[in-house]
Amino acid sequence: MGKINILPAKVYNRIAAGEVVEKPYSVVKELVENAIDAGATEIEIEIEKGGKSFIRVTDNGHGIEREDMHAAFLPHATSKISKAEDLEGVLTLGFRGEAIASIASVSKMTIVSKTENGKCYRLSSNAGEIGELTETSGENGTQVTVENLFCNTPVRLDFLKTDKSEEADITTFVSRFILNRSDIAFTYYVNDKKVLQSFGEGEESALLCVYGASTLQNCYQIDAEKHGIRIRGYIGNQNFSKPNKSYQNVFLNGRYIVNATISAAISNVYKSYLMKRQYPFCVLHITVPTGIVDVNVHPNKADVRFADNNIVYGCIYSVLSAVLDGNSKALDYIVPTQSPMQDDVKSSEKTEKKSISQNILEMAAMTAEKEETSGSDSIFGFSSFTLEEARKEIENCKPKIVAPPVQREKGVTPLSEIGEYNPVEVADFSPRLPFLDKQKKRKKDPEKLHRKYPDLYFERKVLELRDSSCPQTTSENVEEDYFLANKKYLEELDEKNKQNRIDVSACTYAGKLFNTYLLYERDQDVYIIDQHAAHERLIFNRLKEKMQNRTVSRQPMLLPYELKLNAFEADFIRERMQEIREIGFEIEEDGETNFKILSIPYDLKDIDLSKFFNEILGDVSGYRAIKLEDILKDKLASAACKAAIKGGMDLTKEEIEELFRLMDGDMGLKCPHGRPVVVKMARTQLEKMFKRIV
Ligand code: ADP
Ligand code: MG
Repeated sequence: MGKINILPAKVYNRIAAGEVVEKPYSVVKELVENAIDAGATEIEIEIEKGGKSFIRVTDNGHGIEREDMHAAFLPHATSKISKAEDLEGVLTLGFRGEAIASIASVSKMTIVSKTENGKCYRLSSNAGEIGELTETSGENGTQVTVENLFCNTPVRLDFLKTDKSEEADITTFVSRFILNRSDIAFTYYVNDKKVLQSFGEGEESALLCVYGASTLQNCYQIDAEKHGIRIRGYIGNQNFSKPNKSYQNVFLNGRYIVNATISAAISNVYKSYLMKRQYPFCVLHITVPTGIVDVNVHPNKADVRFADNNIVYGCIYSVLSAVLDGNSKALDYIVPTQSPMQDDVKSSEKTEKKSISQNILEMAAMTAEKEETSGSDSIFGFSSFTLEEARKEIENCKPKIVAPPVQREKGVTPLSEIGEYNPVEVADFSPRLPFLDKQKKRKKDPEKLHRKYPDLYFERKVLELRDSSCPQTTSENVEEDYFLANKKYLEELDEKNKQNRIDVSACTYAGKLFNTYLLYERDQDVYIIDQHAAHERLIFNRLKEKMQNRTVSRQPMLLPYELKLNAFEADFIRERMQEIREIGFEIEEDGETNFKILSIPYDLKDIDLSKFFNEILGDVSGYRAIKLEDILKDKLASAACKAAIKGGMDLTKEEIEELFRLMDGDMGLKCPHGRPVVVKMARTQLEKMFKRIV
């Protein structure tokens, strides 16, 4: 018996009207979603001419039964729901039964499908005219081919972008599918060339497939849970930035979404690390309880609404910022599924990666529990107390986030804690190991634990700012606190990071430290300038400005550099010859797939050309939608870094003066990687260090 139901009007009228299929990428999206709904583990996508002339999606899913082949082409025909009540619990990506019918009405569509125990059938339709069902041969699964899209709707055809742009949109969608469903093996061909391939081997491998190894190396892996919200995935490190927001992939409860609250949380976390117009990279899989997200059943909308944006903002902000500020690999937040004793090897690896203070807190909590229950002094026999319980214990103690590892010499207060640029103040962290102290009866009294080991606790500024009317944070208002606190914290940061241009004539050079830091005195302040960071910033600015104004000077090569590529890469370069020339390369075609570089931009004269082009092509073959200029900006930053004077290099007085003159009094500069170029220290801070004043 067939499975596909024709929905009665009263059911489909309840379903939000679907947008008609108006772009090649929407066809790809619908067909791939059908394949996923059919339980496929392997999906192959082929397109030609940006999807305009040919789209084919082949899957190894459960197939369509003979009786249903015809029904699949009909409007409101779906096997996924049959009555209105089913709408409440829809788990599949599609359920409106509209996609196949509406695509079939504007193209030539052929479905070939075979169920496990059935035969293989083929059925075609031409602009909605359904043909005869025929038997054919084929594998289990379904293959849907769409040819000559919009052949009978010339207006829609006119609205399409160039083949390349439509192709880039499809590539973006396929990349998202790969990242979202890393359990499925996808293969993606463009004009017969394999462009992307994933193996269904998990998130790391999916990320590698879409973005390449260099991106993975620059990411922290996260697996965190806070207030019932689980955040998993990869986030770029503090020095890894992207030229636009298209590198932020957020999947909520399994769906790709774009949401302003989540975006704001991500941007704000990176605000103190990345410069303006640099954007963080992330692939986040967020799972929220259905209660806090307004389940929008319209499958074409990427946005979602949350019952309370503050909760979502606070959770994402606090987890991500703890990772970046603490420089831990987010494993602090790992939700263990096994007790530490069972999970011996892995758990010890995880423990190593935790921040020191987190470990100490956990150990203290575990020891306390152990001592209370068994009277034993040993810190190792904690099998009766799982990590989960320890975590709860710690959760009960404020604060929610523990200090990042801070290493210091005894008695010396690090400058970072006094300096004006220190974004997060960290309380004194004692090297004492409290779990070696034999104290009893501490468990279930966080306050006692707190009093006993005050050194272990610190209140990050962001958490201190609480409404004075409710000094004691309860679980009901904790999310709001996060949000309020975050907001204030960010405002303060903003204030701090404001560029402060000073009058250079009032500055006196006061010497240098370690051949790296230049000291300038002005009124009651000392400016400490990192010579490498300053120079790097200045070179980067110049390169960028030149690139934008297209006034690059060229340096001819003694011998032309030969670029030997494969056909796909050659295509890419050929299409962008003009852009490459504008950036300052003199490039010529040299046969089908080879190119000659005759001269290079003067400012990039020291770069390794083969590496440079490899990186460009590496990024490109993984993700074709990237603009060449954007890739180049990244490269300029590393070129600037290489060309800049180094820390430790002994500069002459003249060189120092020249560098300072070039900075033009801009003390708010950051290097292209986002680190501060200048740190200001007030005389009073110095005097406090020497206890001249208190
Ligand atoms: P919906 O996905 O909303 O149900 P579609 O028009 O996309 O509607 O598909 C209609 C029906 O055709 C589906 O309900 C399903 O039964 C069948 N179908 C379409 N594509 C596939 C596929 N790749 N594998 C198995 N069945 C499919
Ligand atoms: Mg569908």
